[in-house]
Amino acid sequence: MDAELPRRSFLQLSGLSAATVAFGVAAPASADATPRRPVPDGAFALGVASGDPTADSVVLWTRLAPRPLAVDGHGGMPPDDVPVRYEVAEDERFHKVVRTGTAIASPELAHAVHPEVRGLKPGREYFYRFRAGTVISPVGRTKTLPAGRATRFSYALASCQAWYHGYFAAYRDLARRDVDAVVFLGDYVYEYGIVAGGNLWRQGVSVGPEHGVEIETLEQYRLRYALFKTDPDLQAAHAAAPWLHIWDDHEVQNNYGADNSLYGIPPELFVHRRAVAYRAFYENLPLSLRSLPSGPDSQVYRRFDVGDLARINLLDTRQYRDPVPVDEADRLAEQRTIMGAAQERWLYDGLTRSRATWNLVANGVVVIAVSDDRIEQWDGYPANRRRLLDAFGRTSNPVVLTGDIHRHVAAELKADFADPASRTVGVELVCSSIGSDGDGADTDAYAKDWLGHPYVKLYNARRGYVHATLTPHEMTSEFVTVPYIEADANAAATTVARFRTPAGAPRLEAL
Ligand code: FE
Ligand code: CA
Repeated sequence: MDAELPRRSFLQLSGLSAATVAFGVAAPASADATPRRPVPDGAFALGVASGDPTADSVVLWTRLAPRPLAVDGHGGMPPDDVPVRYEVAEDERFHKVVRTGTAIASPELAHAVHPEVRGLKPGREYFYRFRAGTVISPVGRTKTLPAGRATRFSYALASCQAWYHGYFAAYRDLARRDVDAVVFLGDYVYEYGIVAGGNLWRQGVSVGPEHGVEIETLEQYRLRYALFKTDPDLQAAHAAAPWLHIWDDHEVQNNYGADNSLYGIPPELFVHRRAVAYRAFYENLPLSLRSLPSGPDSQVYRRFDVGDLARINLLDTRQYRDPVPVDEADRLAEQRTIMGAAQERWLYDGLTRSRATWNLVANGVVVIAVSDDRIEQWDGYPANRRRLLDAFGRTSNPVVLTGDIHRHVAAELKADFADPASRTVGVELVCSSIGSDGDGADTDAYAKDWLGHPYVKLYNARRGYVHATLTPHEMTSEFVTVPYIEADANAAATTVARFRTPAGAPRLEAL
């Protein structure tokens, strides 16, 4: 297959003009501020969000969808461009508005807008809302990152929100916490068909037959995001803090890697699927314009500096990974990579040259050594892991943040996992799922595979999130779980483990 031809045809087929994309961020001054026809009530049914904060900017997001579950994936919107006004204020009542602007919600981008608000003050809380026609959105709260000397940064981890497996009680609790940012570690949607009496464990809800098949088309991916985003606790968590998103596999298809589907879809067809899935990811999340895909390609690895306190590196461990190894020699091959050469260089440079006290690395799959047959995780890429651990050995306080396994795990990163006596170079915090796998239990049949390693300090198989706080001296991490999710969203959260990680000697001390 000629690699260039399909990519060029994607751009032609996408129907996306540069102007459409740019106006979704900032409308031209000449744009008409009044919609052509009245905007339907309930246009903000999918809520509001913010993300990709810097010290002086943040991306705001909403998607107009008065009937979010309209079968055609268009959310009940007419096929018009609709101007959407936004306001950013220093106070919740919008007495002190500091920025206003307009973006154009276009049907080509599912009526989503992604205004990038600049000129804000560092380390400060802001409130924002949108207006389309006469319809006004709920208010969101966001926060810029600190600049210069920073003394405290608090963040939550979340991942794996299979809406159909249960309610988002964990988000209900998270939304009440005062966090500076939420790092979402992948599996925001799942592609599987949703079937009553099968995988639909969220009690008291039903879904139409259009949700019963594995999603493939752009309209189906849009509808899937809309379905998950109807959850009020997810909306509350988005409205409470800026989010930093990475993806894992289910934003496209289970266990895919690069152009390769695990289910035998030929690469030349699978890249079409990847293109629409990446596009829906951009449309539905508070991402900056640089994460807009071009056909089946999208650079979502990026980094954020939290003053001199922390650097947050967000990785893409799906798009560039080598295929599943054909044999053991292949698995062990020196050139084997889960990140791709360009991203590896970018990461190691960013780690070893960082002047921040803490260096966070958010990634899709577990880094620590668990067993050689976990070829989907970093255990399938041992040479890449050696290079990563080598860079960690020259990095100030590395902390890996991971989701994917639907379990809480806390572990120490060893310079050489084959030698448990080797130096501890950092820690890995693995966040359980918000929804995936239903109620769960404190332990399960896999616990012994993990806890058998001396560097694994926690294993818990309930649903939940992680809340961590950084200071120049230490990181505390709190692993929160809920006792059930399938019956309703009312379960009270509890903390099952707390750790202290001293700066300068990163390890896990149980509190
Ligand atoms: Fe998952
Ligand atoms: Ca996953």
